[in-house]
Amino acid sequence: MSSTTFPTGSTTSGAATARAVLAAHFPQGLGSFVDGRVVAGRGETVTLSSAATSEQVTDYADAGREGADAVLASSVRGAEVWAATDPFERAAILREVARTVAAHTEELAALESATTGKPIRDTRGEAAKVAEMFGYYAGWADKLLGHTIPVPGNWHTYTERVPWGVVLAVTPWNAPLFTGGWNSAAPLAAGNAVVVKPSEFTPAATLRLAQLAHGAGLPDGVFNVATGLGSTVGAALTGDPRVGKVSFIGSVGTGRRVAVAAAAAGIPTVLELGGKSANIVFADADLDRAADGAVSAVFSGAGQSCVAGSRLLVERAVHDEFVARVAERAARLRLGDPLDPATEIGPIITEPQFTTVTSLIEAGLESGARRATAAALPESVTGSALAAGRWVVPTVLDGVGTANPLETTEVFGPVVGADAFDTEAEAVARANGTGFGLAGAVWTQDVARAHHVARAVRAGTFWINSYKTIHVAVPFGGFGDSGHGRSSGPGVLDEYTQTKAVWTPTRAAGSPFPSLSY
Ligand code: NAD
Repeated sequence: MSSTTFPTGSTTSGAATARAVLAAHFPQGLGSFVDGRVVAGRGETVTLSSAATSEQVTDYADAGREGADAVLASSVRGAEVWAATDPFERAAILREVARTVAAHTEELAALESATTGKPIRDTRGEAAKVAEMFGYYAGWADKLLGHTIPVPGNWHTYTERVPWGVVLAVTPWNAPLFTGGWNSAAPLAAGNAVVVKPSEFTPAATLRLAQLAHGAGLPDGVFNVATGLGSTVGAALTGDPRVGKVSFIGSVGTGRRVAVAAAAAGIPTVLELGGKSANIVFADADLDRAADGAVSAVFSGAGQSCVAGSRLLVERAVHDEFVARVAERAARLRLGDPLDPATEIGPIITEPQFTTVTSLIEAGLESGARRATAAALPESVTGSALAAGRWVVPTVLDGVGTANPLETTEVFGPVVGADAFDTEAEAVARANGTGFGLAGAVWTQDVARAHHVARAVRAGTFWINSYKTIHVAVPFGGFGDSGHGRSSGPGVLDEYTQTKAVWTPTRAAGSPFPSLSY
């Protein structure tokens, strides 16, 4: 059996803290969640180590193809039970899931922080958002309406919303708890069973969410988790005809591979992929507020965020002053122990991503960008056990022109590329100059210009004088390379149901059978 080493987070108290948190919830170790139990895999060993300190934490066995098969068999049974459950009962159970998650916010946040290295102040907010997701979609579970449709002749014709059956949600490592809730609450409300395939790097919080949801009343097999590698478990699940629909959150390359594999089996997909979002600042903006916004846009989550405002386009008249303000704020951000509530920036969650971020900074500098922030890590990291972890100092690179790789390549780390622009048209062209179309923002006090720019930038989400607010009630998703389909808002219930049309004659004798050769 070969071995793969992956980092997860922990604290200055090191792997011992992460191990203690894991042992409290998973005394038998990590595995898949099937029919209400954690089941050990039998595949390749996956080793998890700390992002904060690089110490080894634990390992688990990949579920493999055999494990994926068992998960799906359970989910098919769960889907039948759940679809047959009265929608009012489904709503009541999902409300109970919301209440249970809300009551375990602190515990879920600690687990997520200990196993990813994300700051606890962020994971507390994310856990609360997951409770909100279940509460919001619980409200829709008993309100999935059809239509009665007038047609020529004597017919009663109506539509019904029908669940797909089993929805597979493949999620990334940057926000395992949040994305586990984001891509399961809506399909569950629509009457589907859900299998979440979390990233092999970060399965713990998703497993705990499934345990809590099961404890709150979801029947066996309705919310399963398949734990392991994308190349084994992910690939086995994606093309399996027992899956009705696939939602995928992750990188563009993997997303496309998943979409091709699903399509080959006739399975539709929702893809939420990466981004290279532009944050456009005009000279008339409230520059203090815009600078605060620009810092949180790219540095929260240490930049490991799909909507990160990783390009900062500033009108030339205020460019130098504005970049200095952003750099000064970036230098004040507090890096440190992920479980310390004062910590604002955590480490890079995975080893490969750490290598990607550090090499993209080098590539950006080699292509002519200038550092506006110091390169050295602060004493809070270098002077502690964190020194061996995967830390990247919040980095502002200025003079990132259109030929610089940082203009179009997603970094997914705490790095923003800044540049000056002269005209609104130039700023919009730069914003639209990548294949991505996930998000963006404009900062200006000119209302007409704000809306003009909002309309002109090709992005699924756009903020005016703000950044990064998202809510489960509002549609979220990308254009172009950032994906297709939406994963929130009421419209997502259409993603997770199919429409059935039912015809019945109201006067049998008078209703001719049409001769359509359709
Ligand atoms: P990734 O594409 O490497 O992996 C995502 C998931 O796909 C993981 O669970 C992985 O195991 C699985 N996977 C890998 N190969 C597979 C296969 N052949 N079949 C099925 N599943 C497979 O992405 P990542 O590195 O985990 O996450 C980072 C990326 O996610 C970034 O590009 C980021 O922008 C994107 N992201 C997007 C959003 C969004 O909402 N648009 C949100 C978060 C992250």
